[in-house]
Amino acid sequence: MTRNASDIWREDVGDCSYSQVPMPIWYHDIYTTGIHRDSRFPRERYRILKDRIQNSQNSGLIEFMSPECASKEDLLTSHDPDFIRRFLDGELGEKEVNRIGLKPWTDSFVERTLRIMGGSLSALKRVCEFGGISGNMAGGTHHSHAGFGAGYCVFNDIAVCAVKATESLGIARVAILDLDVHQGDGTATMLKDIEGALTISVHCKDNFPFRKAISDHDFPLNSGVGDVGYLEKVSECLEILEDYDPDLLLFQAGVDSLEKDGLGKMNVTRGGMRARNRMVFSYLVEKSLPCVIFMGGGYAKPISHTIDAFYDLFIDGAVANGYIQRGNKSKSRKQANGGV
Ligand SMILES: [Zn+2]
Repeated sequence: MTRNASDIWREDVGDCSYSQVPMPIWYHDIYTTGIHRDSRFPRERYRILKDRIQNSQNSGLIEFMSPECASKEDLLTSHDPDFIRRFLDGELGEKEVNRIGLKPWTDSFVERTLRIMGGSLSALKRVCEFGGISGNMAGGTHHSHAGFGAGYCVFNDIAVCAVKATESLGIARVAILDLDVHQGDGTATMLKDIEGALTISVHCKDNFPFRKAISDHDFPLNSGVGDVGYLEKVSECLEILEDYDPDLLLFQAGVDSLEKDGLGKMNVTRGGMRARNRMVFSYLVEKSLPCVIFMGGGYAKPISHTIDAFYDLFIDGAVANGYIQRGNKSKSRKQANGGV
């Protein structure tokens, strides 16, 4: 039977009576508590989103996993040794700290940074081994470069995951789809000479960073573009993926393109954002393609709009994961029976 990926969204997500394999999501309270309460960053978004999912009728779709700290060796795959050492030893200069933001830094800021990287790496290992979709309820730190951090990002978990995947997890071609309103400048720069890594970024040309990097495919959009113009570009991204035929997708799924966002200027509705996610997830289901979701940006005021959009993202990701896992199971059953 041929499965039509668009059919999956007709199923009642609230009805968990069908056999659903939960999607693993890495989460830790330190994602919130490791940021100072006086920081301008909306640190509560992590905790509120986790509670929202756990208290919802869809809580069974997601399994929360606790991340370990990434090791120095993990960071060394992509970052400058001197930058790593000075961050871990608390020796970054004032300018470097200001460039990262999230100030004032707490005593647990280093641990938070390492656990976020650890969460992304665990999500990566999970999908490389078992297929399907997994995610980190933080990360997507795409403004970090090899030798410096910027824009709320210390180390670049997407770049580290891409290198890890191609160097040691048997992935020949990894694609990075960055749909955050801000360009994935650090990711583009760090992966430009990495064979087997393709970077795609859809972003607002009037948002940070003001000096853009060069991804393999960039889609700079005007302020106020709205749903139609945004989704057209997402559709073009999927055509690029179709041609590239990756073994793994790293999805930076920031929701700061929302019309209610305090930073993003693209004016996308919650429905438009959900359509975006479903386009990507339908593609994954069709291809049975493994994928890691990185949370990325979201700064609405009030924060509830951001939480709604992230809730949609992770629930729809979990539904798609269920479809992929069931498809994988029936494939391996057929193989065991000598079928194709
Ligand atoms: Zn962003």
